[in-house]
Amino acid sequence: MSATRRTATNVLLDTALKNFYGAAEEMGLKDKLISILSHSERRLEVSVPVEMDDGSVQVFKGYRVQHSTALGPAKGGIRFHPDVDADECEALAMLMTWKCSLAGIPYGGGKGGISCDPLVLSVKEKERMSRAFAARIAPIVGTWQDVPAPDVNTGGQEMVWFMDTIGKMRGQVEPGIFTGKPILYWGSKGRNEATGRGVATCGLELMKVLGKNPEDMRVSIQGFGNVGSYTAKTLADAGAKVVAISDITGTYYSPKGIDLKKAFAQIQSHPKKLLEGFTCEGCEKLGISDVLFVDCDFLFPCALDGVLNDKTADKVKAKYVVEGANGPVTPDGDKILADKGVMLVPDFLANSGGVIGSYFEWAQNLQGFFWTEEEYNNRLIHIMKGNFKRVWDYAQAKNVKMRRAAFMTAIQRVADVEELRGIFL
Ligand code: GLU
Repeated sequence: MSATRRTATNVLLDTALKNFYGAAEEMGLKDKLISILSHSERRLEVSVPVEMDDGSVQVFKGYRVQHSTALGPAKGGIRFHPDVDADECEALAMLMTWKCSLAGIPYGGGKGGISCDPLVLSVKEKERMSRAFAARIAPIVGTWQDVPAPDVNTGGQEMVWFMDTIGKMRGQVEPGIFTGKPILYWGSKGRNEATGRGVATCGLELMKVLGKNPEDMRVSIQGFGNVGSYTAKTLADAGAKVVAISDITGTYYSPKGIDLKKAFAQIQSHPKKLLEGFTCEGCEKLGISDVLFVDCDFLFPCALDGVLNDKTADKVKAKYVVEGANGPVTPDGDKILADKGVMLVPDFLANSGGVIGSYFEWAQNLQGFFWTEEEYNNRLIHIMKGNFKRVWDYAQAKNVKMRRAAFMTAIQRVADVEELRGIFL
């Protein structure tokens, strides 16, 4: 009897399940493994009471989902965003399972978040919210259980609040419980730039296998947060021309190339780290989503999910898309891009530099011994290049798209370990 198929009303979860089932069937994965891996081990929902600056109390909803711990502790970020819900976290946790598996690191997949709008919260409100959330999820997180990290709208400061809260609750320092920490407090040199550096490395490796010179390539990058900004910098350092960048304040487009030094200075001086007010030679300000449709060779969507879909994918002019964000292309968008002949590097390969960097941080925390930034970056680039090559070669050999190749490679490793360990729970 074949395993019953889960469906979901949440688009991201439905997509995650469809991608999994599609690859699993093509691989001939056993039904028992399809059943196990299409479910999450744990979905935790918590209430997060926060005393606001005006004295009132607001109760936010928070989540932590552990999709799989087959390969090791669950691993994945915590995001602060109004769209966060349990299904979205589950979809992203599943993606983390495949990401860690494909990356060859000893982790399962998890994801969490708080449904909130961080842009309207004060720093003190954010701190109280972070601490309350950490206390609520404390029973299921730990160095050998589940190791959260930054994600959308969270960073080093939030990791310190989480770690400080749980450390004080437990009466011990446990540096490997969260990754993405500031260098000042158990973090690693290189981690901040790791995701963007990895995304750019995948783009540059694709140029290499296609025989293209980065200096002839015009690139457009959606999102100028942690991922987008360092993707842009790494690509520009390699000679590529960054013609467009964007954030929630709009698209900044210059066919002559964006002055990235100025763009970094702009976000540094903006209270909310936005590009608002940015300008440079030949720069034109366009609408928020225009960054996806400008004339360029490579497009790097490094912001939120679902941006290239049945309504937008057709307008893409780029010939190559490298997914810096998690899930920026919907299945409809995927099909439209494929029909147009656009080649795509999938998210859980392209943006795995973040979690590979987290693994380096965790390994250093376990040893209590810190690497140099050079060691960190060299190892990161080496692993990213190897992973890109593995997926590229598999896709060529089996004549499948890179997304399918990445899924098949990743699922196989988890399935093999599940078989090795056997079913108890
Ligand atoms: N949030 C990042 C991701 O989606 C990093 C996760 C981690 O380092 O655990 O891959």
